[in-house]
Amino acid sequence: MARLQADHAQPAIEDPVLLVKEFALSKKIQAIRGMNDLLPDVSPRWQFFESRVRDLMQRYTFDEIRMPIVEQTALFARSIGEVTDIVEKEMYTFEDRNGDSLTLRPEGTASCVRAALEHGLLYNQTQRLWYQGPMFRHERPQKGRYRQFHQVGVEAYGFEGPDIDAEVILLSARLWQELGLTEHVTLELNSLGSSEARAAYRDTLVSYFEAHRELLDEDSLRRLASNPLRILDSKNPAMAEMLNGAPQLIDHLDEESRAHFEGLTAMLDAAGITYVLNPRLVRGLDYYCRTVFEWTTTALGSQGTVCAGGRYDGLVEQLGGKPTPAVGFAMGIERLILLLETLDLVPKEALGGCDVYLLPMDESTTIPALTLAETLRSAVPGLHLQLHCGGGSFKSRMKKADKSGATLALLLGPDELANDTITLKFLRQERDQQSLPQAALSATLAELLNLATATQPT
Ligand code: ATP
Ligand code: MG
Repeated sequence: MARLQADHAQPAIEDPVLLVKEFALSKKIQAIRGMNDLLPDVSPRWQFFESRVRDLMQRYTFDEIRMPIVEQTALFARSIGEVTDIVEKEMYTFEDRNGDSLTLRPEGTASCVRAALEHGLLYNQTQRLWYQGPMFRHERPQKGRYRQFHQVGVEAYGFEGPDIDAEVILLSARLWQELGLTEHVTLELNSLGSSEARAAYRDTLVSYFEAHRELLDEDSLRRLASNPLRILDSKNPAMAEMLNGAPQLIDHLDEESRAHFEGLTAMLDAAGITYVLNPRLVRGLDYYCRTVFEWTTTALGSQGTVCAGGRYDGLVEQLGGKPTPAVGFAMGIERLILLLETLDLVPKEALGGCDVYLLPMDESTTIPALTLAETLRSAVPGLHLQLHCGGGSFKSRMKKADKSGATLALLLGPDELANDTITLKFLRQERDQQSLPQAALSATLAELLNLATATQPT
């Protein structure tokens, strides 16, 4: 805290009253850069995506887990790795009022392992879990890269063989298929081998990079000592040729990892999943071993990875549990929604909206309209009905009906009330309005809108 303050020209204002005054004097308060509001015109797309995910997880029998957004800083430092980009420069870390160092989670895997261990979920049993929610990284905001972003994550614990690796990849492939994305994404696959094989390979790789030191950029020179494998991931075109000539980890795999990888590729082949072997795929987090994979797309510019994951057999033990094999992935929801929008793949029905606008024609029918709305909602559960609220002239009520986007308007005035009828107006069709008995209304609406009526209790 003391160091932070010394960095600033002005000491931070700690008194909330002063803070309020300060803001009152200045401009409107805005959201934090890189942290987005999801406005009502966009949220139906998110709901569509999320409901597809939830449904898929149930069909694959993965159970949902929800972890807190804040964890002890040590959890991420210990799991993701001290010298990774995330821990070195991207975490939102702060001291709370007790002086404890806390961090807004930059990813879900570490929290998921922590929670599973804390609640004994890994004790003599396997688990297939999934979660979704916001993650936080202090990155440079740009299209497809934000400071608060959202992931869906899947984690499976206690399975050693490649069948579960195949299973989580097949789950993701099915999601692409059901969203219409299959032709727009590519599966890239690699194996990082055991930690021993990787350590030996690391030495070979460092010697190679040392021999080509003059070609390394500043980032890579920094990584040479701390995280040389990550240099393979560099997108710098000036280094491309040198990287192509680098020794490949896949040629230095230990026997067991090789067999595991061959097992996985055979399963993917049998399932008809195509993939590209990418020997330079290393992932940015320290905990991965053996299988790593990414689903990438070329339709989003440079932020092309929509889903990434792999095996992390050592992490549970590293966080204080018994050795437990583990595999998982995380997908970036913003990038997937962008992709669905770019390719125009969100079905119109998924966009929700209003079917019917029910309007009392004057004050005398406010209460009957309210009860009628409730009756209709019970009778036709799929109905999207907006009840006019807020009074106004008849003309302004009709304007609101039009603006609601509804296809049908129901008008309830004193005459209708006296006769137990309703006036039905077609807002988007050249069709005469109709007067209907209220008793027939739910059946008529269901028919016009192609909806089911509630089943009557027998
Ligand atoms: P990248 O190489 O794009 O920085 P990463 O390796 O840091 O990705 P992971 O930690 O593996 O990403 O996260 C999994 C997925 O989460 C990514 O593939 C991406 O879709 C999404 N993601 C990661 N960081 C961001 C971010 N800052 N904004 C939006 N989505 C993100
Ligand atoms: Mg990143």
